[in-house]
Amino acid sequence: MTISKLARSIAESPTMRLNEQARRLRERGEAVIHLGIGEPKNKAPIQAILTSAAKLSGGDVKYTPTDGSPSLKKAIIRYTEEHYDKLVGPENVIVSTGAKQSIYNLLLTLVDPQDEVIILAPYWVSYPEMVKLVYGVPVIVTPEDGTFHPRLPEIEAALSSYTKAIIVNSPNNPSGVVFSDSFIAELVELCERRGIYLIMDDIYHQLVFDGARAAPAYRFTKVDLESSKVLVVNGVSKLYGMTGFRLGWVVGPRKLVEVMTNLQGQITSNPSAISQAAAEGALTGGQGVVESLRLTIQNNRDVMMRELKGLPDLHTVCPQGTFYCLPDFRAYKGKSLELADLLLEKALVVTVPGAEFGAEGHLRLSFAGTVKDVKEGVERIKWALDPSAPTEIYIGDRKLVRDWL
Ligand code: PMP
Repeated sequence: MTISKLARSIAESPTMRLNEQARRLRERGEAVIHLGIGEPKNKAPIQAILTSAAKLSGGDVKYTPTDGSPSLKKAIIRYTEEHYDKLVGPENVIVSTGAKQSIYNLLLTLVDPQDEVIILAPYWVSYPEMVKLVYGVPVIVTPEDGTFHPRLPEIEAALSSYTKAIIVNSPNNPSGVVFSDSFIAELVELCERRGIYLIMDDIYHQLVFDGARAAPAYRFTKVDLESSKVLVVNGVSKLYGMTGFRLGWVVGPRKLVEVMTNLQGQITSNPSAISQAAAEGALTGGQGVVESLRLTIQNNRDVMMRELKGLPDLHTVCPQGTFYCLPDFRAYKGKSLELADLLLEKALVVTVPGAEFGAEGHLRLSFAGTVKDVKEGVERIKWALDPSAPTEIYIGDRKLVRDWL
């Protein structure tokens, strides 16, 4: 079998691998707790269900325009006006099969072979692989001070004549950190001065806690949309917990959207008409669902932070958004892959190794599941790692005794 060099250079998505491992263990009847989970547990909003069901039961499920149905684009335009205070036209919006495809299409549109894309660590696992998929070079910038908050001088030092774009994700997967308004303002200024595209992955932008706010980058641009370097990516996956519908979008200058549409037309065409109907329903229906999801997740975050205090040597930056935190486990074990394997094998807890996000020594823990999962999951981690924890624990109906510390 011959496999292309490019395909061979792409790593398997570790989250998908862990999900699969957890699924197999569960199938065997093991009491697995999944703290690697990347989606909320809620049901899709009723309005999304009704509009997609109506589309389906009408039986008229056909291609839509490649860049999305006009009525969904109208709903996205309203969303952009409401949340970004920015009036855009239908020619500034392209809808894709999840924000994942949106970002991939953007990179395909912007990046020539060997061009560099700045990625801020800790980063979403897919960014570097996506850059490689378009023959670009990911350039990772890591904040030196352990805060998970990037700083402008470090980014400026990483720029070269090959830099085409910077990808920013705030609130951040995996750290939960929300980047400051002043940082986003400086970044917009830098990108517009240097002619570098700023890809704002805003997929978690409404999932913020304690009154935090994800700064809308458009607020800081001094030029009109058509000349702006700011590109905003969003979608219904995290906002409404509609991950399975696979629906995301990009807002940007008309010329770029035109090229992205051209490319998408040759790759997947339009996203599923049923998912587009669902997204339209979610965006135009009652928005109370977003707030109730936010409150549930914020409560889970509080529980997670309280429980983690039980591990005395753990250092955790308290997340102000998303449903993840990224505790520093180096006091217990430096190699995050080994640690995640140990926790899965001994304690049946799924975590995601920080090494995958450019944060070795850390584990990403998700609080998107139930409060019970969060509490029990952390209790098991404590049992597995902390010598001061009781040596015995019940996992499912089995009593386990720790004999490795
Ligand atoms: N960006 C980030 C930071 C994410 O965490 C995810 C989903 N895990 C995505 C984009 C992709 O979202 P979608 O489901 O819309 O493809």
